[in-house]
Amino acid sequence: MFKKILIANRGEIACRVAATARRLAIRTVAVYSDADAHANHVRACDESVHLGGSAPKDSYLRWEKIIAAAKATGAEAIHPGYGFLSENEDFARACAQAGLVFIGPPAEAILAMGLKAESKRLMEQAGVPLVPGYHGADQNPELLQREADRIGYPALIKASAGGGGKGMRIVEKSEDFAAALASCQREAINSFGSDAVLIEKYVQRPRHIEIQVFGDTQGNCVYLFERDCSVQRRHQKVLEEAPAPGMTEAMRQQMGEAAVNAARAVNYVGAGTVEFIVEQTGGYDAPEAMKFYFMEMNTRLQVEHPVTEAITGLDLVEWQLRVAAGEPLPLQQEQLQIHGHAIEARICAENPDNNFLPATGTLHVYRKPAQHTAFQRSRVRVDDGVREGGEISPFYDSMIAKLIVHGATRAEALARLDAALAEVHIVGVATNVQFLRGVLATESFAQAKLDTALIERERAVLFKREPLGLPLAVAAAIAQQILGEWPQNVSGPASGFDRRDGWRALGSYPRPFAFEFHGEPVQALLRYEGNGGLHLTVGEGDGTIAGPLLIGQFPDRRIEVEFHGARHTLDVYVHQGQAHVFAPQGATRITPVDRLAHAGDTQAEGGRLTAPMPGKVVSFAVKAGDTVAKGQALAVMEAMKMEHTIAAPADGTVQELLYAPGDQVTEGAELLKLAVSA
Ligand code: ADP
Ligand code: ADP
Ligand code: MG
Repeated sequence: MFKKILIANRGEIACRVAATARRLAIRTVAVYSDADAHANHVRACDESVHLGGSAPKDSYLRWEKIIAAAKATGAEAIHPGYGFLSENEDFARACAQAGLVFIGPPAEAILAMGLKAESKRLMEQAGVPLVPGYHGADQNPELLQREADRIGYPALIKASAGGGGKGMRIVEKSEDFAAALASCQREAINSFGSDAVLIEKYVQRPRHIEIQVFGDTQGNCVYLFERDCSVQRRHQKVLEEAPAPGMTEAMRQQMGEAAVNAARAVNYVGAGTVEFIVEQTGGYDAPEAMKFYFMEMNTRLQVEHPVTEAITGLDLVEWQLRVAAGEPLPLQQEQLQIHGHAIEARICAENPDNNFLPATGTLHVYRKPAQHTAFQRSRVRVDDGVREGGEISPFYDSMIAKLIVHGATRAEALARLDAALAEVHIVGVATNVQFLRGVLATESFAQAKLDTALIERERAVLFKREPLGLPLAVAAAIAQQILGEWPQNVSGPASGFDRRDGWRALGSYPRPFAFEFHGEPVQALLRYEGNGGLHLTVGEGDGTIAGPLLIGQFPDRRIEVEFHGARHTLDVYVHQGQAHVFAPQGATRITPVDRLAHAGDTQAEGGRLTAPMPGKVVSFAVKAGDTVAKGQALAVMEAMKMEHTIAAPADGTVQELLYAPGDQVTEGAELLKLAVSA
C-alpha cells in the first residue's frame, strides 16, 4: 500500500479521500488555490502545496504543477477526486510518465469512454443495449436531420464531449431540428471545445439508473449494484438513492452484467459508473416492463458514491487505493450484498425559486445534524468541505455538502433524511435545503413514482412554499427579540415558561411590532399582562390571530415558543436585519421593521416624538436648534432591558428636549419637539 498520496482536488471530495487515507495510515498532500488557502481540505491533509490563482485553470487544472508537487513531497500516487483532472487521459498518462500512480482507470479507458459517441460505438460492439439513435462520425447537418427524422420526435441532441448536464437540446419536431442543432453545437464548442454531436431518442418519463462497477489489475470486475438518480434539475442530480425502488433481482443482474461488460470492453480498472436511461414502458408500478439503455460511462468516483457505501458497508475510496496499489478486489461478486436503503441529498448554494441560479456568499451560520459514525453504514453522514464563516466562492461548483442517510427501508431512510435536513441550518447563502424537503414531501417521491421530470411535474407544490406560516414566524421573531432583552442568567430548559414574576412590576401594557413577511407588511401587538404572561395578536382585521404566548430558551440558545395551540422548538438567527427561523417542519425568514422609527412617522405629524413604551431615557443625540435628517438618531431609550434608538421620522429642526437623561418616562410621554421641514 502507498505511504503517501497527493489529492488533486478540493472541497468535500478531497476531505473524503483524506479521511480514508488517514484511516489506512497513508499520509496525504493537499493542493490548493488562493481562494482555498484556509480551506478544510488543506487542514484535512498532512501537508499542502499552493498551486496558484483561484480560477481552476490557474490551480486545480495545472497538472504539471500538481505532478511536480507530488514529486517534491514524495507522494507515490495521485487521487484526482471527481471533476477537474479526473477524466483527463493526458493527466493520467503524465502521471505514469512521472513514475506516479494515477488512482483511476488506465488512460486508454478514460479516452475510450470520454466521448459519448465513440463510447456508444464500442458499447454497441460489446452488446450493451443503446438508446435508439445516431452516434456516427459523419456530422453533415442534413444527415443529422435525416437521422433525427428516422429516430422520431422528441429527439435529443447531445454534445459528444458534453458533461455536467450541459450541451443537450430536446427537439420536439422536425422543423425545429436545424435551429436546435446550431445552438447545441455553439454551446458544445464553447464549453467542450468540440461541436461533435450525437442524436438519441428522447425517452419519455425515464429514470436514470446507474451501476457502480469496480475492476482490478488482475482482470476481476464486479458491480456494486445500482443507484437511482432520477431526481434532477437542469439534467443534474439532486437526490440519489440505492437500491433503485422497484428494482427486481432479474433486472439488477441484467443491468449489472451489462455494466460489467461495458467496463470489460475497455479493460477497466478502478471505480467507474455506467449510466443507463430507463424507459418505464409499463408506467411507474411495472418494474418488469422497464427497458434500460446505456447512456455513458463516468470513469471516476461519482459524487453519489456514498449511497453505495451505505448499502454495501464498503469504503469505495479504500477499494480505489487497494486496486491502484495492485491488490485484487477485496470481494467477489457473490460476496456483495445490499443492506437497507440509502439516500443522498446534494445541498447546493442556489436559489430554487430563481431557476436554481447558483448563489455565493459567507456561511454566516452553518449547522449540521449530528453524525453517527464516519463512512460506511452510518445512519446519518455529512460529507462537506466547508465550515461556519467560510465562503462559497464563484470559482468552484455550488455544492456545499452532501447529506447521506441509511435506513432499514426506503420509508425509514426518507424520514431520516427529512429530519436530518431540518437540522441543517445555513444562513448567509441561499440554499436548496427547504426545496429538498419539499421534494421529499411530494407524493411522487414518497411513493417512488420516479422519473427525471419529477421536479417539473411537482412544480405547483415545490416552489414558493411557506413551511411555517405567518403566526409562528412572528411569534418566533418576537420571542428571539424579547429573550435577548431578558437577563442572561436563564438556566435549565425552557425556564422562560416558569418565569412570570419578572414582569409584575411593569404592569400591563402593549408593545407594537412590525414585520415584513414574503414582501408583505405585518403588524403585531404583544401585551405584557399584569400577571407576567404574554399575549400576542398577529395581523389586523379579519385574519387576526391572537392568544397567549409562552416563550423560553434552552441553554443551547434554542428557543421554545407556544402560540396558537402548538409548542415549537426553534432556532432563530438574526443576520443582516432578517430573522432566520428554523423549525422541525421547515425554515423561513421574517424581517423585523424598526417599529420605533416607524411609530415616529405617525406620531411626529404634530412635531411630537413620544416614548413607545415605559422606560428610561438614556441619552439625547441632539440638542435644541439642531437640524436633523430623516432616519437620524435623536434619542436612546432603555426599555425591556434593551436600548432603543428613536430616529427622526423626517427632516426637521429640534425645538425642545422635554426630558433629561436618566428620567423615567411612561408610555406615550413626549420626549422632544421636532419641527418637520416642509
Ligand atoms: P456525477 O455524475 O458524479 O453526479 P456530475 O455530473 O454532478 O457528476 O459532476 C461531478 C463533478 O464533475 C462536478 O463538479 C461537475 O462540475 C464536474 N464535471 C462533470 N462533467 C464535467 C465536464 N465535462 N467538464 C468539467 N467538469 C465536469
Ligand atoms: P452528462 O454527461 O451531462 O451527465 P448524460 O448523457 O449522462 O449527460 O445525461 C444527463 C441526463 O440527461 C440524464 O441523467 C437524463 O436525465 C437526461 N437524458 C440523457 N439522455 C436522455 C435520453 N435519451 N432521453 C431522456 N433523457 C435523457
Ligand atoms: Mg451523466
